[in-house]
Amino acid sequence: MVNKLYLVTPRGFCAGVEMAIKALHWLIKIYDETIYCYHEIVHNKWIVKEFENNNVIFVEDPSEIPAGSIVMLSAHGTAPDVEKQFNNISSLTINSVCPLVTKVHHEAKNFSKENTQIIYVGHKNHDEAKGALGVAPENMHLVENIEDVEKLKIGEDVALLAQTTLAKSEWEPIMEYSKNKYNKLKMPRKSDLCYATTNRQDAILEILPKVESVLVVGSENSSNTKALVNMVQNKGIKAYRVDNVEDLDGISLNGNIAITAGASAPDHIVYEIIDKINPINLEYFELKEEVEYFPLPQQLRRNIKLISNFLKNFNESISKPEAKLGISNDKDWTATEALNSL
Ligand code: SF4
Repeated sequence: MVNKLYLVTPRGFCAGVEMAIKALHWLIKIYDETIYCYHEIVHNKWIVKEFENNNVIFVEDPSEIPAGSIVMLSAHGTAPDVEKQFNNISSLTINSVCPLVTKVHHEAKNFSKENTQIIYVGHKNHDEAKGALGVAPENMHLVENIEDVEKLKIGEDVALLAQTTLAKSEWEPIMEYSKNKYNKLKMPRKSDLCYATTNRQDAILEILPKVESVLVVGSENSSNTKALVNMVQNKGIKAYRVDNVEDLDGISLNGNIAITAGASAPDHIVYEIIDKINPINLEYFELKEEVEYFPLPQQLRRNIKLISNFLKNFNESISKPEAKLGISNDKDWTATEALNSL
């Protein structure tokens, strides 16, 4: 029996996930054709299924799309060479990369231009790492741990970058080791670890002394979800990753627990899980409010505006009254509402 369940904030959708979901929603609404999405739009089983049920096909390679298709590139970022291939085959490619991933791509490009060798700390085969490494494949070296850095023989002019969704506990030891190994190690002024990943970890760390176990809602391939689970387990506290309410079967929860969610996990799943657990007490714990907002991809905004202006000119009556939730009010509605309106 769970005595107290702490519902932790911030949890769930970050600004990048919000933007990518809303962007894909708009493509579905505007175009009749099947939309092809490179990689899962965000790493969440439920969301991927929802989009699949609404005429989206997820692909892993440009060769999988028919010529003239409409394509969306996922939030995790796409290697420039792959984006070019999609551009050549598609009639329209919209890139919904998170701006914080774009920041890392820019850094990689700039260091590479200076001929600096780049150590990229990330998870092999993760979509974000694959995209980032594609920015400067000849100069970038993927490392997952200190041993990988130890083995590198790449001269002295070295920079250190990171996948945005690493746990601080994964990143910090590698950073310290690299600083010692390379006296003149170059690093970005602002950390590559994103605000959402860090905030979710900080919030759970704060509540940890009060609980016996932690539930982390999120899918298996969600890097920041796994980072949360690992971080809690490294502190000696039980942590369970659950994708949905069925995953609770076989998990024994007692005493005081906390629940959080990775950046791509929908909040309705968190509430379904809380309902199933049915704790004696539910307490809200908010570490901080997140106010970050990322606008929709520029090209998508431009296309929606063009269509909207065309319709207004075509039929004056359509422009009155102004739609409450449109492209110019994007900030006022959420990815959850977008998903509900599919
Ligand atoms: S987790 Fe961070 S980097 Fe990834 S989409 Fe969200 S805000 Fe962007």
